[in-house]
Amino acid sequence: MMTTAHRTKTADFLEEVDRYSAHNYHPLPVVLTRGEGVWVWDSDGNKYLDCLAAYSAVNQGHRHPKIIEAAKAQLDTLTLTSRAFHNDQMGPFLHRLCDLMGYERALPMNTGAEAVETAIKAVRRWGYRVKGVPANRAEIVVCENNFHGRTTTVVSFSTDTDANADYGPWTPGFMIIPYGDAEALKAAITPHTVGFLVEPLQGEGGVIVPPDGYLNAAYEICRANKVLFIADEIQTGFGRTGRMLCCEWEDVRPDVLVLGKALSGGVYPVSAMLADKPIMDVFQPGDHGSTYGGNPLGAAIATAALNVLVDEQLSKRAQRLGQWFLERLRNIEAPCVAEVRGKGLMIGVEIKREHGTARPYCEALMERGILAKETHEQVIRFAPPLVIDKETLEWALTHITEVLKAT
Ligand SMILES: *Cc1c(COP(=O)(O)O)cnc(C)c1O
Repeated sequence: MMTTAHRTKTADFLEEVDRYSAHNYHPLPVVLTRGEGVWVWDSDGNKYLDCLAAYSAVNQGHRHPKIIEAAKAQLDTLTLTSRAFHNDQMGPFLHRLCDLMGYERALPMNTGAEAVETAIKAVRRWGYRVKGVPANRAEIVVCENNFHGRTTTVVSFSTDTDANADYGPWTPGFMIIPYGDAEALKAAITPHTVGFLVEPLQGEGGVIVPPDGYLNAAYEICRANKVLFIADEIQTGFGRTGRMLCCEWEDVRPDVLVLGKALSGGVYPVSAMLADKPIMDVFQPGDHGSTYGGNPLGAAIATAALNVLVDEQLSKRAQRLGQWFLERLRNIEAPCVAEVRGKGLMIGVEIKREHGTARPYCEALMERGILAKETHEQVIRFAPPLVIDKETLEWALTHITEVLKAT
């Protein structure tokens, strides 16, 4: 593939990053230099279909013209004020976000993990000040196989030892139950339980779809016990599963909603926690914040990103194309496939262990111009930007079929 005399640019980049970067990721050996819509190009000029969409941060497609336009205009105006002063972009952004999602208030942060932390703080404080839980006894119930981010508190309640080994001492106050089991939630609740934090569909956990009725049953259990239902829709939100929010599939309106990723369409990190006044108003001046949270650049970008989702009806598109794509993937008769599952355009193809891990399949797809990433060893995730069309999916299916059947 490469000779010492004529090394490709890609090889140079890989060597440099290996030398200077922490080794906390295991990326596919591709160096991307450009993106547009569902396509990305590498440093050697090869073109690929992006079937990961930056873990669903790029639902609107790479460099969506309307989002880029908003970003450029704001770059020429004002980028950061800190929250010591007001800016003219944050209010309109939060107004739009609250109207769209149906909440009274929103608190802007930057990364998903920060928004999860914000939710944990809000829910604990609500527990002490509104529910009346004795000081420092609040408990939050979470699920096995969860992914909620990388902070020390958040990895404290991970069940993935890669994520939390030797990062202790861990933050106490979390109770872990099996995912998809409403009875386990009922059994775990104590008078000190303040919240139940859940992904409506586990993305990083390997595209795990819980049983029908689970979200609704869990929500009802929470309501009956005065426990806040906290949905982490950082990955499942914004149309990915065929609804604006995945919780809509079961008509559940979370008490606390955590958003990130596609909130800004892959242009800039913006996240948020949403809730109604009785919960959000536990925050008072000085007791939570972020220097960049709610900055005018991010706010202008996120407003444009939300408008694109609505104007282009990307949820409906994900639903229509996703259902078709899922059926077509299920019809591939390949001995290596254990299961094909998903919702909307969030689809996982699980490879049987006796056929090795998902990694070599992702590498083979890369060779053919499709970028997908394995999650949890055995699962190939297909989650392209929601602006994708049927013809492109059809093209991808041809290659996916050949790669899966080749083993
Ligand atoms: C990506 C993700 C996070 C963390 O978001 P960051 O921006 O990486 O901190 C949290 N929860 C879920 C469900 C995610 O997919």
